[in-house]
Amino acid sequence: MPDARTSDARTSDARTSDARALVLRGSPACPDARVETVRMPDLRDGEVRIRVAASSLNYKDGLAVTGRGKIVRGDFPFVPGIDLAGTVEESRDPATPEGKDVILTGWGTGETRWGGFATHAIARADRLVALPGGLSPHDAMAFGTAGLTAMLAAMHLEREGIPGADGEDGPAEIVVTGASGGVGSYGVAILAALGHRVVASSGKAADFLAGIGAAEVIGRDVLGKGAARPLDRARWAGAIDTVGGPTLGALLSQMRPHASVAACGNAQSADLATTVFPFILRGVRLVGVDSNTAPMDDRRTAWARLATLVPATVRERLTTTIALADVPAWAGRIVRGEVEGRVVVDLTSA
Ligand code: NDP
Repeated sequence: MPDARTSDARTSDARTSDARALVLRGSPACPDARVETVRMPDLRDGEVRIRVAASSLNYKDGLAVTGRGKIVRGDFPFVPGIDLAGTVEESRDPATPEGKDVILTGWGTGETRWGGFATHAIARADRLVALPGGLSPHDAMAFGTAGLTAMLAAMHLEREGIPGADGEDGPAEIVVTGASGGVGSYGVAILAALGHRVVASSGKAADFLAGIGAAEVIGRDVLGKGAARPLDRARWAGAIDTVGGPTLGALLSQMRPHASVAACGNAQSADLATTVFPFILRGVRLVGVDSNTAPMDDRRTAWARLATLVPATVRERLTTTIALADVPAWAGRIVRGEVEGRVVVDLTSA
């Protein structure tokens, strides 16, 4: 396990062990988050030491840093942050040489293992994705777990098939819920870039949604009240749902025959009230997305597609960059649903 002693003695080899990090002390339910200098674990915890250039703030990180959700399962003190990107500084794995730029998301990072809110991280080599050409670590974290999840969700919809994508029954509309959030906004941008007519469901007067590709914006309450009846007017040819609860129930009742919902999140609720009718009378498919444990092949495909599909202008429009010391305040904002788009944590100057 990482050695969380505050480091008071610097070693002569800068690569050895000290990092600036956001450290959670106290308990998972009542954490005290502060930036400190900490002693990092050595390479017994993973083959690779990474100089982290950027991390990102996800809803899950907000829950971990504020203590609002049971996210951290490692011993305290603990360094959160489920995403990171940077450069390999030391390696025991020949396929992952020093100087290689890498991305690490999920696999318990920032949950069971020290995460990305630090200048250095120790990781298993087989969990790293090479940074796609054309992306900087900052660009990769502008996507982060949110972009990866949205891309994996779009890939699920493609695999299941999008009925009417040929326009035979009118335009095939795909709806994205929680559309102004990290996963949602990339869901909108990705599906629009793939040529679909995207309807964004959002609780905000989010003018930027049209700018990233939404053809229409509907209020969060339209779906958020839940299903009016087990089978409603079949409107949606696909859905990326980031909020769960009554919204997901409503979506299932409104899917076209043989359409799919990619379920990613629970920002509204973890409950799901539905009936079997959408499944047995319309062949609707409910597909789960878990970016944390997604297979490495899918991750590599998703990152390569993100790098080429989403225009840099869209990525920049969605991104706010903050310093490590700003994370606690922004963690509060993201759990209150006040954050639009993505938040990158810059670690180059930490
Ligand atoms: P964000 O906080 O960035 O976005 C969540 C969005 O959900 C908000 O912006 C808001 O959008 C909407 N929302 C917030 N509160 C409510 C509410 N009470 N009722 C309805 N809608 C609400 O979070 P992320 O995009 O990072 O994550 C979204 C969800 O996906 C979370 O539940 C997260 O845990 C999950 N997730 C799952 C992953 C997976 O692998 N399965 C990976 C990453 C995230 P708006 O105002 O536009 O309606």
